[in-house]
Amino acid sequence: MSRERLYLFDTTLRDGAQTNGVDFTLADKVAVAAMLDKLGIDYVEGGYPGANPADTEFFSKDRDLKTTFTAFGMTRRPGRSTSNDPGLAALLQAKADAICFVAKSWDYHVRVALETTDEENLASIRDSVQAAKAAGREVLLDCEHFFDGYKANPKYALSCAKAAYDAGARWVVLCDTNGGTLPNEVEKIVGEVVKTIPGNHVGIHAHNDTEQAVANSFAAVRAGARQIQGTLNGLGERCGNANLVSIIPTLKLKSEFAEKFEIGVSDAQLKLLAHASHTLDEMLNRAPNRYAPYVGENAFATKAGIHASAIMKDPQTYEHVAPDTVGNKRKVLVSDQAGRANVLAELDRIGLKIAKDDPRVTKLLETVKEREALGYAYEAADASFELLARRMLGSVPHYFDVSYFDVKVEQRGNSAELETLTTAVVKVKIDGETLISAGEGNGPINALDVALRKDLGKYQKFISGLELTDYRVRILNGGTGAVTRVLIESRDETGERWATIGVSPNIIEASFQALMDSIIYKLVRSGAPA
Ligand SMILES: [Zn+2]
Repeated sequence: MSRERLYLFDTTLRDGAQTNGVDFTLADKVAVAAMLDKLGIDYVEGGYPGANPADTEFFSKDRDLKTTFTAFGMTRRPGRSTSNDPGLAALLQAKADAICFVAKSWDYHVRVALETTDEENLASIRDSVQAAKAAGREVLLDCEHFFDGYKANPKYALSCAKAAYDAGARWVVLCDTNGGTLPNEVEKIVGEVVKTIPGNHVGIHAHNDTEQAVANSFAAVRAGARQIQGTLNGLGERCGNANLVSIIPTLKLKSEFAEKFEIGVSDAQLKLLAHASHTLDEMLNRAPNRYAPYVGENAFATKAGIHASAIMKDPQTYEHVAPDTVGNKRKVLVSDQAGRANVLAELDRIGLKIAKDDPRVTKLLETVKEREALGYAYEAADASFELLARRMLGSVPHYFDVSYFDVKVEQRGNSAELETLTTAVVKVKIDGETLISAGEGNGPINALDVALRKDLGKYQKFISGLELTDYRVRILNGGTGAVTRVLIESRDETGERWATIGVSPNIIEASFQALMDSIIYKLVRSGAPA
């Protein structure tokens, strides 16, 4: 059976760059484009040449990508000719395979925002598409506010799309710019559009303002659209764009789509997805969303004892797809609700060989339960669990002792100019030798971390690539008094991430435990000698 080709268009570097707090450097852009290219995305929109220096430079040379590298920009301004419009000239000069124009398709916007006539807007679409075609580019037209425009004036919205198609645009992309359209409306309206423009020339660009951008994209495909625009991790203005990281596996792994459509992403490329998603987060210095479908750390995590034992017998019992198809991992959480099955499954995953009926398994399970009653949460701290298990099995070397630490927070100056200084001093004993380090930080935990990691003698080289990426504090009411739980997430030079935990009535003590676990875990993983 021959399947229809469905195209993927990524706009992480253009629409995704509109995300609050996201600012791609040129080097970031080059890296993201290469990553998308490797994933097998058909179109990569690199940005808006002429709008800012980084984008202009990004399009100043051939980027040598397999994907259709696309430049974004406006159609010619009303009242100008295409040969006399600097914005359009910059776009035509950009080293890109395709040009994606954005144009108004809602008559209200044409009048109020563009301050021109309906007819002049249509002429601008036609002229711009023709100019780009004449320059040898593949052309796309993003119809801004298409769905709202269609609801207000279907005839005019459609005539904008038709003008682009008739002028030679390869794709007419229907944009839900405000993101408020619902899937049933998208399906109905796209169904109307494909009566005029063939569906294999129609694309969907959905925003996530009702958390249905992914569903809206699929609704459009059901109605006949054959290009989906979206971003990695759903990056984008306000609530984001359609998340390609959720869309791609659904198209590949769910029979409704997989039987009908073929996409440019192969099974082998699909396995790169989780890594691509996390790499983007790292680049943006964000902690990956643990709950992200398909690629999140919790996407294939199981907690309750009976589920875990069923999963060990046959993973399909509680998994909608196999985790390795998207490059993710199964995880069985160790928690006080768990039975031996969870503990055994987790020990197996870590690579600790132990007989099922070994009494140490019972002892470990009891210890986990006791500690969880105190406030520890091992399901969120896999590295601390691993250390606990390895210690009970006697496989964690004694690396060093911290014999003393002191943290001081001082405020100096007067009310007009107050300065807060934090310093920490740590004494570490390694092979009978005492090393003393001091550190300054923007807070007590930071200062303690700086001091502790400043000089670990012969172990220093093993922890030089260690970095703390997330620090979370939660106050628990343990009955007799408040208890603080600290979770620290770390990563190293290889990109491996791990989480550690500390619990104490004192926040510094809790943080210190989590920091120590992180360092010792790294030493164990690096095979540091005792
Ligand atoms: Zn958009």
